[in-house]
This record gives sequence, structure tokens and C-alpha cells, in this order.
Amino acid sequence: MIRKLLRRVFKRAEPAVTQEPAVIPAELHGIRKEDISPAARKVCYVLQEAGHKAYVVGGAVRDLIAGATPKDFDVATDATPEQVRALFRRSRIIGRRFRIVHVMSGQETIEVSTFRAMNSEESSTDEHGRILQDNVWGSMAEDATRRDFTVNALYYDPSTQTVVDYHHGVADLQQKTLRMIGEPHQRYREDPVRMLRAVRLAAKLGLIIDPDARRPIREMANLLENVPLARLFDEILKLLTSGHAVPCLRQLREEGLHTGLLPMLDVILDQPVGERFVWLSLENTDARVRAGKSVSPGFLFATLLWHQVLTNWNERRARKEPSHPALFAAMGEVLDTQAEKLAITRRISADITEIWALQPRFEKRAGKAPYRLLEQPRYRAGYDFLRLRAESGEIPMELPDWWDNFADAGGNAREEMLQAQPRDPAAAAKKRRRRPRRKAEADSGGSVTAEAGSED
Ligand code: ATP
Ligand code: MG
Repeated sequence: MIRKLLRRVFKRAEPAVTQEPAVIPAELHGIRKEDISPAARKVCYVLQEAGHKAYVVGGAVRDLIAGATPKDFDVATDATPEQVRALFRRSRIIGRRFRIVHVMSGQETIEVSTFRAMNSEESSTDEHGRILQDNVWGSMAEDATRRDFTVNALYYDPSTQTVVDYHHGVADLQQKTLRMIGEPHQRYREDPVRMLRAVRLAAKLGLIIDPDARRPIREMANLLENVPLARLFDEILKLLTSGHAVPCLRQLREEGLHTGLLPMLDVILDQPVGERFVWLSLENTDARVRAGKSVSPGFLFATLLWHQVLTNWNERRARKEPSHPALFAAMGEVLDTQAEKLAITRRISADITEIWALQPRFEKRAGKAPYRLLEQPRYRAGYDFLRLRAESGEIPMELPDWWDNFADAGGNAREEMLQAQPRDPAAAAKKRRRRPRRKAEADSGGSVTAEAGSED
């Protein structure tokens, strides 16, 4: 206990921002100049030629040393946003909370940020200690210290091919440790999202979260409730589309971070079929991301929330609510509940709804309905979702297989497939009742189609 206290006091007293950084040569960090995108290199050279400091910084340096492929390249400099803007024709200043410059070069956009300090006098915090505003320029050492983890505070200079390291980040990375800069409780209080970042980065790079940084997470998890929903959503989306969603969520669960945050997971993970479905979907997503394919957030959230919709829908049908309106009511209710915890954007909600609404239409294998479904712009997403449902054991595999064959078959073969379908007694009864009507009218009857259309 005393040792712990001493360690904490010692850490606080550490003159972190005045320490001399290590300058690590290429043979020790292993990054080759060619690993850095040409645009990021060029941005550094132009800034340096104009007399500024400029480094590739953050996630890219970390990922390269860890042997991973960086998602993008960020540059940090002592030039102000206006000075950066003046040096690059294709650039613009963006952001209100942090003003940074986007420099466009070919197809790439490089984010250039000015060294910032975490100045406690000038940065304002909310009543929980969360930093609300910290746009205060600082020295390079201060910029390193305001970053979250030691492995994220590394600066690569493409001119000298050295890494400037203020917090032993290279050694931590080589020892597979994710260590917080500063006192972890305080750093989580300032920004609770750092808890999620810790889990994501550890899972992504196979790092162990240092015990000092890991221990407080469980007790501080509730601070995530004070984070704006939109920011939480961005972070969760990053986590789910990191290509490492499965290990990330496993660790979120281990750290006690999943409850409340992802209410869908609380519920789903307790249901065997639901759990299987979610993990399958996440494995699928990870494989796609790693193969460099795009993933649709709408599809992903549609899978994560599907079993809640199913449960709600089944309850409604058990109360004798008509099936189609019951489905739409269930979808609405699930999305509304979710929206209180996680701000799913309107666009993504529309995508989710579309994928869900297509599901009952796959069961109609008679008349013109299957042809119309094939022509739906979202057919592919709906079909992929259907297959996942089958793979998880929710529905028979025969259904997606049938659609596979139907999509591939020629005109005559399609007709034969439709004829071969056993008659659904309910549908047949409906048809009998409708007999007096004209045929065309009876055929247009996909009521889900009409409702799905009006939902859009
Ligand atoms: P990714 O691989 O997802 O891009 P990243 O670490 O680069 O991971 P970014 O959000 O791009 O994440 O952040 C860039 C850098 O900014 C980080 O490497 C870190 O140095 C710093 N940073 C980001 N978020 C925080 C935070 N919440 N607190 C402190 N520093 C942060
Ligand atoms: Mg990044």
C-alpha cells in the first residue's frame, strides 16, 4: 500500500515534460523510410525545409514498429495551423475543439497537428474531471506527455530516420506492454474513452495492458456514461471495424466494459444462438477488414441487434399482433433503446432497418416476389445477413442455399424452382380468399415490401 502510494507520488513528481528524449536509430526501431506513405514524407520535408519541426506521429509509428500496417499517417509539427495552411496549396484547416490541417496529396489526406500541451490551468474540465477543451499549443515534449500511452508518443523523422521517444515507448512496444503516460486514474478521469482505447490497442497489437493501467478500468468503467454519445459511437465503430473485433470484445467483457455500453451485448451474449450469431458476424467482419474489403457499419449493427429484434418480434406475435407491423414495431423499439446508449447515426439506422426488413421477404418463394427481391439494391446485404442467420443455426441452411441457386439459375430453371416449392397453407388460404380480385392485384401483395419502402 505504502509502496503504491510512494510510486504514485513519485510518478506525479516526475518532471515528465522536461526529460530528454531517446533518439532511436533505424537499426533499433526497424522502420524503413519506404514504409511511410510518400504524402506523409513529403509533408514532413516541406515543413522542415520551411524551418519547422515535423514528424510522423502516433498510431502509424506504433503500428510499423509492431509490424502492423498503419491505417493512416498523421504528422505533428511546431508550425501553427495557419503556417501549415500557407505551405500547402491543397490544404484546409478543420476542427473546432482541436484545429488541425488536412493536407491533400494525390489520393491521400494527411492530418497535420500542431504540438499541444495539456495545460491544466487553461484546459477546462467537467465536474468528473473530463477535459472539455485543450487547444493549447505546447512544446514537443509536452505534446508527447499529453498523449495516452507510451507507444502512442513516438515521433518518426523521415529525414534522419530516427524515432524520438520521450516515454520509453519503443521498449514498451518491444516488450509488448501498453503503458499509460502519467497516472492512470487521472488519465482515465480526464478522458474515459482511453479505457476503450486501451482495450482496442492491446487487442489489435497483442499487447498486455500494464497492471497499473488495467486495474482502474473496472472501477472507473461507469465514467463512460459521461462521454458524449457521438464520441462513444465513433470509438465503438473503430473497435468493431478494427479487424480485431473478436479479441477486442472478449477483452471488453473481461475488463467489465461491455455492460451498459453495448446493451445489445448484455442481452445477446446470454442466449446461445444469439451469441453464436454475434461472434460469427464479428469473425466475418474481421476477416473482411483484414482482407482489405470494406465493411458496412449498418450490416454490423444489424447483426449485433438482430436477436433483440427477434425476441421482441416473437413476443408481439405471441400476443397475436399481425406479423409485419409487429416486426416494424420491434425494429423501432430496439433502435430507440439502443439510441439512448449509443448514438447510431440516422444513415446507419436506415441501413439497419433495410437489412432487417428484407428478412421476411426471403421466405416468400412464390409468384413474382422472389424476382422483385433479387432486383432490390440491398439484396446482397440482405442475403449475406440471411446466410449468417443460417450459419448460426437460427434458420435452416436450405433457405440461403435456395436463394443461391435461384440467383444463379436461368429463366426456366427459376420457374421450376418456384413450382417445386411446397405450398404454404397460410398463403394458399389467403389466395383462396382473394380469388375474386384481379390477378395482378393479388400478386402485388408483398405487404412487407410496401412497409419496407415507406420506412426508407
Ligand atoms: P488508430 O490505429 O485507430 O488510428 P491511433 O492511436 O492512431 O489509433 P487516433 O485516434 O488516430 O488513434 O489518434 C492519434 C494519436 O493521438 C494517438 O496515437 C495518441 O497519441 C493521440 N490520442 C488519440 N486519442 C487520445 C486520447 N483520448 N488521449 C490522449 N491521446 C490521444
Ligand atoms: Mg491514427
